[in-house]
Amino acid sequence: MDHELRRDRLRKSMRRVGIEALLVTDFVNVTYLTGFTGDDSYLLVREDGEVLLTDGRYTTQLEEECPDLDLAVRKPGASMVQLVIRVLRSSEIGRLGLEADSMTIGLEDKISDKLPEMALVPTTGLVEKQRLIKDKEEIELLRKAIRQAEKAFAVVRASIVPEMTEKQVANELEYQCRKFGAKQAGFPSIVAVGSRSALPHATPDEHRIAEDGFVLIDWGACEGLYRSDLTRVLATDKISPKFTRIYKVVLEAQTKAIHAVRPGVLCQDVDAVARGVIARAGYGRRFTHNLGHGLGIQVHEAPRLAAKNQTVLKPGMVVTVEPGIYLPGWGGIRIEDDVLVTRSGHEVMTHAPKKLEEMIVE
Ligand code: ZN
Ligand code: ZN
Repeated sequence: MDHELRRDRLRKSMRRVGIEALLVTDFVNVTYLTGFTGDDSYLLVREDGEVLLTDGRYTTQLEEECPDLDLAVRKPGASMVQLVIRVLRSSEIGRLGLEADSMTIGLEDKISDKLPEMALVPTTGLVEKQRLIKDKEEIELLRKAIRQAEKAFAVVRASIVPEMTEKQVANELEYQCRKFGAKQAGFPSIVAVGSRSALPHATPDEHRIAEDGFVLIDWGACEGLYRSDLTRVLATDKISPKFTRIYKVVLEAQTKAIHAVRPGVLCQDVDAVARGVIARAGYGRRFTHNLGHGLGIQVHEAPRLAAKNQTVLKPGMVVTVEPGIYLPGWGGIRIEDDVLVTRSGHEVMTHAPKKLEEMIVE
């Protein structure tokens, strides 16, 4: 992973917005720029170098993860604020950029209090904008995370028995992801039986897999910080006409939306394709969330495939496409795949089966 290249790109955007340095306070952005995975650490990026502000707990980890980085280590008893002030004071910065989305007012007040001559410039999205476009290595890690998740799912699916609980399936999925090499699950899986699948964030509990006709499973794996994210609905009983009807609408919405993914298209337009299919089938009000989100170090990151999101899709972006229909009391159907925007259109990175007849487990 070329973190230096990432920091050099950031320096270009810093020059564009007229700041001499950027204090990166968002831990995910710090990870993106350095490879360091601990939290409680800030990165000061200057024109001529950078320094990671951290504390003594992390020195071993830092030696492993980013041995070439300059460090400013907080002494026991000293606060992070004191360390920030100390580093800034010795750096002769005229205009310091702050990350407005993660900077605390407390820290900002202290800096302007102690260093009144320094101009503080709020910025938004400088690093996030870079994170939108995945490079080759990031895409390779996402591919691995997808393969791990899909292999795990195939094993769990083949061994599902009606007596299993939601929790057991979730645990088994996570275990299998690790077994296939993942560092961990990409996020806490959702395994929701029947009517419980109408709750967008149901936590797996003691409900039995086969007690209510079908089960929605939303899972992913994490490989080298990068996360996959898929959803499938398995039918555990004879499928009803209603299930068939709704499943087909969701699958059609997803297929058409995926088809619309290509460079130059606005996120909102892809969202509208899926929303149109679902609305025409009479379930418009039952598609209660965005169509999708970016994938990367975070399982939910920019760009969002959402109404009114005017981000233009570009090659290297990776998004989920996950329409759903949720009927309170009956349940929800969602189908989610991970899609890479390519120069000529898109590539569906996930391959888990999703045709209706492939979703029946017995
Ligand atoms: Zn998901
Ligand atoms: Zn998702």
